Formats: sequence, structure tokens, C-alpha cells
Amino acid sequence: MDDTARCPSCDAALAPGETPCPSCGSLLAGSRKIVVEPLRQEAALAHALLESAGLHPVLTYHDESGVPHPIEPDEPFQRAGGLMVPLATAFAVFVPEDEAEESLRILEDVRRFEPETYV
Ligand SMILES: [Zn+2]
Repeated sequence: MDDTARCPSCDAALAPGETPCPSCGSLLAGSRKIVVEPLRQEAALAHALLESAGLHPVLTYHDESGVPHPIEPDEPFQRAGGLMVPLATAFAVFVPEDEAEESLRILEDVRRFEPETYV
């Protein structure tokens, strides 16, 4: 099995634990994508849950070619950087590799006990 870590932004091979990416500088290097949602509000909700649990999630959007870009959860998406953001195909939440397991457990619990949250 190929367990080489790869940069989620530029696909460069990374040494274990290496972050940010030496090739493109992405802070998502060494993080794992644990949530992918078509709607920003759903991804932002997962982000908020993880943050309130003391973890370090990063909210991102995927551009047309599927490359993730970090965004500020509190900023109106359309005005990020004063520019129109390119069409987002999906929103994702990344967490540091060593928080991935706990994050997935937290989200599973929420989906089980508060299904309304995800309607
Ligand atoms: Zn990279």
C-alpha cells in the first residue's frame, strides 16, 4: 500500500508530518480531509463542531479542478479577499492528521444523536 502523504493542494509527495507543503506552501499538507459537503453551511457546521471540541479544523472550498483552498468560516464567502471567488464545487473540512480519528468520532456522534442538524 502506498502510504506516501501527498499535498492536498498540489499533490506533491510529503515527508511524514511535513507541513506546510514545501512545494506550494499549503497549510493543508499533513492534514486529512474528513468532511466533504456540497453546501458551505454544512461544512461550516462541522467545522464549528470540531472547533468547539478543541480541535483545529480548517474550512476549505474546492475550486473547479478540485483543489482545496482554506477559507475563513466567519467571512462571507463571496467577499473573500474582495474578489468573487471562483465557482466552488464542494466544501471540505481538514484536520491535522493526529486529530482525524477524534474528529470523525465527534461527527459520527452528532449525526447519530442530532440528525436534524444535518437536514
Ligand atoms: Zn503543495
